[in-house]
Amino acid sequence: MDKSIIIIGGGLTGLALGCYGRMNGYKTSIFEMHKIAGGVCTGWKRKGYTIDGAMNWLVGTKPGTSFYKFWDELGAAQKWKIYDHDRYSTFEDNNGKAFTIYCDADQFEQYLLDISPEDKDVIRELTQGIRTFSRMEMPMDKPAELTNLIDKIKVVKMIPMLMLMRKWVKISVGDFCKRFKNSYLRQTLTSAFGDDSWPMFMILWLLGLQHNKAAGYVVGGALEFVRSLEERYRALGGEIHFEKRVEKILVENDKAVGIKLADGSEYRADWIVSAADGRTTIFDMLEGKYIDDIIKDRYDNPNLFSPLVYIGLGVKSSVDEIPSSIAGLSFPLETPITIAGKEHDRLGVLNYHYDPTLAPEGKTVIKVQFETDYDYWENIYKEPEKYKAEKERIADDVIAALNKRFPGLASKVEMRDIATPMTWVRYTGNWRGSYEGWMFSAESFTSSMRKTLPGLDNFYMAGQWVNPGGGMPTAAMSGHNTIQVICHKDKKPFVTTTP
Ligand SMILES: Cc1cc2nc3c(=O)[nH]c(=O)nc-3n(C[C@H](O)[C@H](O)[C@H](O)COP(=O)(O)OP(=O)(O)OC[C@H]3O[C@@H](n4cnc5c(N)ncnc54)[C@H](O)[C@@H]3O)c2cc1C
Repeated sequence: MDKSIIIIGGGLTGLALGCYGRMNGYKTSIFEMHKIAGGVCTGWKRKGYTIDGAMNWLVGTKPGTSFYKFWDELGAAQKWKIYDHDRYSTFEDNNGKAFTIYCDADQFEQYLLDISPEDKDVIRELTQGIRTFSRMEMPMDKPAELTNLIDKIKVVKMIPMLMLMRKWVKISVGDFCKRFKNSYLRQTLTSAFGDDSWPMFMILWLLGLQHNKAAGYVVGGALEFVRSLEERYRALGGEIHFEKRVEKILVENDKAVGIKLADGSEYRADWIVSAADGRTTIFDMLEGKYIDDIIKDRYDNPNLFSPLVYIGLGVKSSVDEIPSSIAGLSFPLETPITIAGKEHDRLGVLNYHYDPTLAPEGKTVIKVQFETDYDYWENIYKEPEKYKAEKERIADDVIAALNKRFPGLASKVEMRDIATPMTWVRYTGNWRGSYEGWMFSAESFTSSMRKTLPGLDNFYMAGQWVNPGGGMPTAAMSGHNTIQVICHKDKKPFVTTTP
C-alpha cells in the first residue's frame, strides 16, 4: 500500500511538497486553514482590479537556468507568459533628477560612465560583478543531507564562484558605494540600492538575474501562478482540504503520527510535514517539546523580514508617467507620511500597467508599500474602529502625496485597499507578519537550518521558515528536497515528471 504524507499548509511549499510527493507515489493530503491555496503567494480582487501580493520577480523563468526545472515539473512553465523588465528601479532625488538602475549590465555601465567617467574602475567592478553572477548556476536538485562524493566534487568546481560570493557577502552596499568619487553617484546609488546594510552580493545576484533575463514577472501575478501549481497537484491526484486549521501535531513515543484540527477531528499518516509558520509549528502544534538551544535562541532573538503596510489603488488611466520597473519609482515627499510612529520621507510606487490582466482596459493598479513595526499594528488591531481609521488615514496621505507628484491622479483613483501586518497574520499565520520568514544575512549565508526537530521522528519542516531569505523558488526547492529525503528514508528512488 502507498505510504501517506500529511502536509500542513497549502502555500507554495505545501503545493510543491504535494506535487513531488504524488510523483513518488505517496498519498498526500494538504490541510490549509484559508479558503484558497497559495499562502503569501497570492493576490486579491477588488472592484474589477487584482492587487498582486507577491510577484515582483520569479527566479527561474529562463529555460536552462537552475530553478526553471522546478517550475517545469510543477506545471507552471507550460502555462505562463513572462514579462522581462528593462529597468530595475528609478530613484528621484530632492531636485527631481531621476536615476535609473537598468537590468542590462552593459546599458547600466554606459549610463554610469556617462555620469561619472572618473569612477570607471569601480563602475566596471560593479557591472563585471553583475555579469559574473548572471552566469552563476547552483546545484539545486539535492538537499545537503543526501550529498555524496560526486556532488561534493561538483561543489569543488564551484569554489572560485563561492569564494567570489564570500567576498561580496562581506561588503555592505554602504561600504561599496563609499568608493565612488562622484558625490551624486555615491549618495544616489547607496539609496537606490535599497538598504545600505545589505550585502553587495544580494545586489549583484539580483541584477545578474535580470541581466540574464532569468527572473521575470509572470503575467497574471501570484494568483494566476499559484493556480497552475494547484491544478498540477490535483492532476497528480493530490488531496487538498481548505478551511482546516491544524492545531496539534499528534506524537506517540516521540514519533509524529498525525494531526488534530481546530474542529477536533484527527488524521493520521506515515509522515508529517509542516509547511506552515515556523513558530506556530514548533511552539503551538508541538508545544515547544522538541527544541534545542539553537532553535530557542533563533526564536528568542528573531531576525525577520519587516512586515508591510501595502496600499493597492485602482486607477482609471494607465498612468504611464510612472515608468514600469521591478522595484518601482521612489521619490521624496515634501510632507513625510507617518506610519506606526515612523516618518517616511520617500514614497516608492509600482505601476502594474505592464500586466493588462490585473485591471480593466485602459486602467491600472498601482501599489505603494512601507516596512512597518509589528507591535504597533498588533495593538491597534484590538480596537477595530481605530485600526480601520488608521488604514484609511494612511491611504488618504498616500493618495495626496501621489497627487502632488502626479497632479490629477487622486481624481482617477476608483479603488483603494490597505493591507497591514495583521492581514498577513490573519490569512497566512506568518509570525509577526513576516512575509518571507527569516532575513537573509551574512550569517545565514554560511549556516543551514535543519528540516527536522531534535528528538522527533517522522516529521519535517519545509519552506520559508527553514530556508532564510524565503521566496518562491526556495519554496519549490524545499518541497522537492524534503520529498527526496523522505524517499531516501523509505529506500525508494526519487523521481520527477513533467506534465
Ligand atoms: C509582498 C510580497 C512580495 C513578495 N515578492 C516575492 C518575489 O518577488 N519573488 C519571490 O520569489 N518571492 C516573493 N515573496 C515571497 C514568497 O511569496 C514566499 O516566500 C513564499 O510564497 C512562501 O511560501 P511558503 O509556502 O513557504 O509559506 P506561506 O505562503 O506562508 O504558506 C504557509 C501556508 O500555511 C498555512 N497555515 C499556516 N498555519 C496553518 C495551520 N495552523 N493550519 C493549516 N494551515 C496553516 C497558511 O495559511 C499558508 O497558506 C513575496 C512575498 C510577499 C508577501
